[in-house]
Amino acid sequence: MFDKILIANRGEIALRVIRACREMGIASVAVHSTADADAMHVRMADESVCIGPAPSGQSYLSMPALISACEITGAQAIHPGYGFLSENAGFVQMVEDHDLTFIGPRAEHIRIMGDKITAKDTMKKLGVPCVPGSEGGVNDVDDAKRVAGQIGYPVIIKATAGGGGRGMKVAKDEAGLEVAFRTARAEAKAAFGNPDVYIEKYLQKPRHIEIQVFGDGKGRAVHLGERDCSLQRRHQKVLEEAPGPAISPEERARIGKICADAVAEIGYAGAGTIEFLYEDGEFYFIEMNTRLQVEHPVTEAIFGVDLVRQQILVAAGHEMEFRQEDLTIAGHSIEVRINAEKVPTFSPCPGKITQYHAPGGLGVRMDSALYQGYSIPPYYDSLIGKLIVHGRDRTEALARLERALGELIVDGVDTTVPLFRALLEEPDIQSGNYSIHWLERWLEKNFA
Ligand code: ADP
Repeated sequence: MFDKILIANRGEIALRVIRACREMGIASVAVHSTADADAMHVRMADESVCIGPAPSGQSYLSMPALISACEITGAQAIHPGYGFLSENAGFVQMVEDHDLTFIGPRAEHIRIMGDKITAKDTMKKLGVPCVPGSEGGVNDVDDAKRVAGQIGYPVIIKATAGGGGRGMKVAKDEAGLEVAFRTARAEAKAAFGNPDVYIEKYLQKPRHIEIQVFGDGKGRAVHLGERDCSLQRRHQKVLEEAPGPAISPEERARIGKICADAVAEIGYAGAGTIEFLYEDGEFYFIEMNTRLQVEHPVTEAIFGVDLVRQQILVAAGHEMEFRQEDLTIAGHSIEVRINAEKVPTFSPCPGKITQYHAPGGLGVRMDSALYQGYSIPPYYDSLIGKLIVHGRDRTEALARLERALGELIVDGVDTTVPLFRALLEEPDIQSGNYSIHWLERWLEKNFA
């Protein structure tokens, strides 16, 4: 087992990894930018190293700085968290070239899944159901029109290098296709440096259902059911729950097995998430994330497992601590993402936290790097906390969420807490009846 792990991240996810390390008796090294010298992850880790100035390109994304930090501190492995370098195959290669261990899958698997066309092609061959669309990329408007004509409108044009909901454009009909094609390409080029796009049928009222998988890197893999992440704004998740209110045990077992078999087949190592759109009883693969997800705690809650601990075990060459038959679901869990943003514009609100009180009690988990007096820097993501609740069933989880939101105090900045309090009043949220378009429509109706 490793003696010391460096965490190449910040905020709540850095704390999450430090906590797992501490329970395993492993020393932790925090890295930070000059803007984060006072951050909680720096205080909580056993050691810390300043790796550069505020802009993440010169600090959290600086591969040489991270490798040097390992060399200085004697850390043997790097946990990337999510975002930043977590899905960067070149970084994995560099880590390995320096005889360090990357806590995550092999570079090859990150590369395959990072290119969405290759990912879809690979999954299709592994027997995973996919959204109807182009075979590979589309190169010009005529090609796009031909494919769209075959699969039928509406269609969505997506960047093969895409992520974070960027570089996606919907075309309702042939008249709108040319503009959608050109803007998607331009956006993809600007955001990812790669203009390649592909086309998919645009599903009208799907749910976003993702399957958590876990592989040992030696051909054994399990699934940990699904998370429903349909409540989205601008293709960004806002609230996640497990199990999915619309998924039956039979459907879970069927799609879960398909996913576990697929990752076992390629010898995948560690945590991964296979994302689907789900409509009328059918699953359609959209992408795979080769890392720990922001919303992993809802899965941890219902299965009673520590996914970060398993990641560390597998990276160190140990066995994972469960088999498929050990994994049974207990109760229901919901996570809300608390951002420092003003509702309803969702404009970021960095600033000083004048008062902070985290909710507690039975079935409540608050993953946050906030503390009273902390100043949220303007340079990074606006996620400041995740409130996760767990109850015996969905009704209890909802009541617990409402109770916990009532206890939470974050003063000094605007947050998305009022959004969740309003959502809990909605019959559709109470009954679990929502698709990926529900939240945008609700925001338009209530705030436009
Ligand atoms: P990203 O990597 O940018 O997050 P995804 O492929 O995961 O992109 O898609 C993000 C979201 O975009 C999905 O959760 C869904 O809301 C929407 N979306 C993607 N593909 C389709 C599609 N074929 N039809 C309808 N909505 C889609």
